[in-house]
Amino acid sequence: MGEGKTDWRTALMAEAAKRAGMYLAAVPERRVAPSPEAVAGLSGFAEPMPAGPTDPLEVLAQLDEVGSPATVTTSGGRYFGFVIGGSLPAALAANVLAAAWDQNAGLRVMSPVGAALEDIALRWMIELFGFPSGTAGAFVTGATMANFTCLAGARYALLAQRGWNVDAEGLFGAPPIQVVVGDEAHSTVFKALSLLGMGRNRVITVPADGQGRFRADAFPKLYEPSIICIQAGNVNTGAFDPAQEVVEAAKESASWVHVDGAFGLWAKCAPAREHLMAGYSDADSWATDAHKWLNVPYDCGLAFIRDAASAYAATNVQAAYFPAGADRDPMHWTPDSSRRARGVEVWAAIKSLGRSGLAEMIERDCHCAARFAEGLRKAGYAILNDVVLNQVLVSFGDEQMTRAVIHGIQQDGTCWCGGTTWQGQAAMRISISSWMTTDEDIDRSLKAVVRVAQAVARKHVKSHIR
Ligand SMILES: *Cc1c(COP(=O)(O)O)cnc(C)c1O
Repeated sequence: MGEGKTDWRTALMAEAAKRAGMYLAAVPERRVAPSPEAVAGLSGFAEPMPAGPTDPLEVLAQLDEVGSPATVTTSGGRYFGFVIGGSLPAALAANVLAAAWDQNAGLRVMSPVGAALEDIALRWMIELFGFPSGTAGAFVTGATMANFTCLAGARYALLAQRGWNVDAEGLFGAPPIQVVVGDEAHSTVFKALSLLGMGRNRVITVPADGQGRFRADAFPKLYEPSIICIQAGNVNTGAFDPAQEVVEAAKESASWVHVDGAFGLWAKCAPAREHLMAGYSDADSWATDAHKWLNVPYDCGLAFIRDAASAYAATNVQAAYFPAGADRDPMHWTPDSSRRARGVEVWAAIKSLGRSGLAEMIERDCHCAARFAEGLRKAGYAILNDVVLNQVLVSFGDEQMTRAVIHGIQQDGTCWCGGTTWQGQAAMRISISSWMTTDEDIDRSLKAVVRVAQAVARKHVKSHIR
């Protein structure tokens, strides 16, 4: 091959870039949910195990021709399901280049650039979120693993204070840790607790108010040692637990306060939302996602732990062939060892936006959520939450009608919204988390939702007359 190899690779990558570019150019006008025909077309992949090689250009062509039509347009401005976010142009382009690099970010010696960009991205985020400068940070797959990593640090620290080395001895025979969670804690917090041997069900649950916030007046007496899990950004309402009160109560018993801020933490970057984050930087650990509101490609979550020594003790890994350097080796700070260099995209995203661009993106999404809510309210539908951030809950009447509107809008393809049950009531859930979403996207989506809701209402009336 020799010289020809370079040309062949360049041509393949150019073809991939061309196909990706054409896909992205079509995103603004694409259906949000793929058509049933496109999903049925996935049978085009159902071939017998290939007996021999296929030309990479042909592999790419099949992927694009069969695969691209069956994607959900989460990369566009009108996907409002779950809490998703798209990919900022700089982050996506960096992701493509980093994929070509194929770096293993586990050790600095395996990827100096991966480690350097992690260091810088972590430093920038610690500054953005207002955490103490010695805070340890780690790149993980998502907020689920970030919750896990932070709670592993908490478990280590609280038991070490009582003379128990959980790393060496495990949990059998250890002093019990009391875990306090809000009634509205995210399901992944319970998953992390279960994985850590702290149990889903042995938690003390604090009742929630109408917005899903921790009721500070219903706070239990804390026994030592305790971990209290609070939430910045309820996944339904976007509400924030009262961090100041919780941190104050925790201080007296030397409890560990952990924050699940998968998307809510980013409120700190927008001056008009920053007040929601009051008291949060006084916590002990924080989990967040970059693949949600920072709009980097999947997967990318972040764990921050104030007590760096405990963070290291909880997740470091040793082997005779690992170098022992003074510099931070990423694999000592996360449950993973080998992994991709996630710091690349976070660095690119923050570098491309800067403080002002970040503030603008977060604020615009919040503004769009308020605009959507206002439009729905004017059309006569009930908004079930205080729209303080990027989340909107709307009811279209009874459960059956609300479910029918959700189904209808998903079929319609203009935008995509999911459903939930909020404090016993069926609701459509709208989450605005994309760098692409504009007022125009909101107005277009609003029109579609109202059109679908009116059709559902007409059908409902008809069926009652009959
Ligand atoms: C999304 C989310 C999680 C889980 O995050 P993943 O990135 O899916 O692992 C946890 N907590 C909250 C509040 C979330 O919104």
